[in-house]
Amino acid sequence: RREAERLDRYKPAITTDGRRVEVAANISDPAEAVQAVEAGGEGVGLMRTEFLFLQRDLPPDEEEQFAAYQTMVRAMNGLPIILRTLDIGGDKNVPYLRMPAEGNPFLGVRGIRLCFEREDLFRTQLRAMLRASVEGPVRIMYPMIAAPAELERAKAITEAVRQELNVPPVELGIMIEVPSAVMMADRLAREVSFFSIGTNDLTQYVLAMDRLHPVLAPQADGLHPAVLRMVERTVDAARRAGIWVGACGGVAGDPAGAVLLSGLGVAELSVAIPAVPSVKARLRAIAMADAERTARDALDCVDAGEVRALVRQRFADAG
Ligand code: PEP
Ligand code: MG
Repeated sequence: RREAERLDRYKPAITTDGRRVEVAANISDPAEAVQAVEAGGEGVGLMRTEFLFLQRDLPPDEEEQFAAYQTMVRAMNGLPIILRTLDIGGDKNVPYLRMPAEGNPFLGVRGIRLCFEREDLFRTQLRAMLRASVEGPVRIMYPMIAAPAELERAKAITEAVRQELNVPPVELGIMIEVPSAVMMADRLAREVSFFSIGTNDLTQYVLAMDRLHPVLAPQADGLHPAVLRMVERTVDAARRAGIWVGACGGVAGDPAGAVLLSGLGVAELSVAIPAVPSVKARLRAIAMADAERTARDALDCVDAGEVRALVRQRFADAG
């Protein structure tokens, strides 16, 4: 019976009406790549590379990063891995970069903005990622893209680095985690292979509530209909352009969130490693037709509390 459970882990998550939703894992170091595969992850939907840069006195050089990425790619054993370029700034401060203090770090030079300020770091990281990409299906993803011009600039730098290295192109995608990116998703979708919705930041920026705020954070629920409507709009733009959409924020691993995101057409849920088996089990217990109907109704709710009550009522016995 244990053995049967273990094997079940590696099967895809298919709803009772035969629709597949990919379940991938979020990781932040090479050891977690191994754990992600063991937990039944069908890939890594988000590798948070900034963890390689924290708690040290100097940034990791190209060789150190290459070794880390290569180890992860190998551990994936042919499964896809999305490497996100540096997302420093905001809540992740790195003293050795000596960035000026900011009054609103979450609205400041973070993510791709910092990579443009420090193009040396960005290029080094891209070199390491692209070198590792020859060993398996690596996808590169840019965080905090807020406008088409930023994507164009990030892609141009990536292409220049790729030509220097003379390696084949990789699939490129962006995080959708800033409201302006949602509103411009039709334009952005033409330029990438995939979107991954970062519900943590998208929620904080849509609701104007700091995700770490001691008083407000509990209210900043990613199941708020305002956030779900942003997801709907993103999926719609992606469909028109023929690209796929994943989600990698906390909502993807929330039992109600997994149902609603897949019901809205999100094709890949990337969740914390321990949540991989439970999210798969949850998806296997429901019909996509019910998830779609519930997601549509959730868009008409007034707040996250009403959305959660709706999902509880519709999926009382779905595990
Ligand atoms: C997000 O914003 O939802 C996300 C997945 O990225 P991070 O939590 O690393 O900001
Ligand atoms: Mg984010």
